[in-house]
Amino acid sequence: MKNIAVIGAGTMGNGIAHTFAQFNYKVHLIDISQASLDKGIATISKNLDRMVAKQKISEANKIQTLANITTFTGIAEGARNVDLVVEAATENTALKSKIFKELDAVCDEKTILATNTSSISITQIAAVTSRPEKVIGMHFMNPVPIMKLVEIIKGYNTSDIVMQTIADLTAKFRKHQ
Ligand code: NAD
Repeated sequence: MKNIAVIGAGTMGNGIAHTFAQFNYKVHLIDISQASLDKGIATISKNLDRMVAKQKISEANKIQTLANITTFTGIAEGARNVDLVVEAATENTALKSKIFKELDAVCDEKTILATNTSSISITQIAAVTSRPEKVIGMHFMNPVPIMKLVEIIKGYNTSDIVMQTIADLTAKFRKHQ
C-alpha cells in the first residue's frame, strides 16, 4: 500500500488526506473544484502548523506531509494507479453510487474502494461495482488527525483479505478497529 486517493477535501477528506500523508503515503486528493481543494490544503497546512507549534511534529515533517499530497479535480485522473481509494464526499446515496461506478471503471482491479459514509449501507454502495469483495467502510472520526478510532465496516461481500489489509493499514497509524 503506497498510493491512496481521497475523494472530497471537506471536513473529513482533508483530515484523512493529512493523516495518510503524515505517515508518508502518497495521497491524491480529489474534489470537484480547485477552490475546494485549495481550502482543504489550507486547512491541512493550518493543522500541521498547530502540530509543529505543539512540537508533535517537526517543520520538516510538515513540509514532507504537504509534499506527499497532489490535488485533482477529476476522479478519472486522480484515482488511477492507486492501491486504495477512501471516499469522503457529501453524504448522499445517489452521489456515492455515481462516484463508486466511476471508481470501478477507472481503478485497477486490485484497488480497494473504501467509503467514510456515516449512514449508507456498504453493501448498497458495493452493489454498483463489479468488485463488491473489495468495497469496505472506513469510518474515521472528526477531527481525523487527532482521533484514534477508525471503524472498519464489512459489507455483505467484503472479503476477509480486504478486511485484514485495511485493519493492518489502520494499525500502522496507531488507530484501532
Ligand atoms: P463536507 O461537506 O465537509 O465535505 C464534502 C466534500 O465532498 C466537499 O468538499 C464537496 O465539494 C466534495 N464533493 C462533493 N461531490 C464530490 C464529487 N463528485 N467528487 C469529489 N468531491 C466531491 O462533508 P464531511 O463532513 O467531510 O463528510 C464527508 C463524508 O464523511 C460523509 O459521507 C459523512 O457522512 C462522513 N462523515 C462525516 C463526519 C463528520 O463529523 N463530519 C464523521 C464521520 C463520517
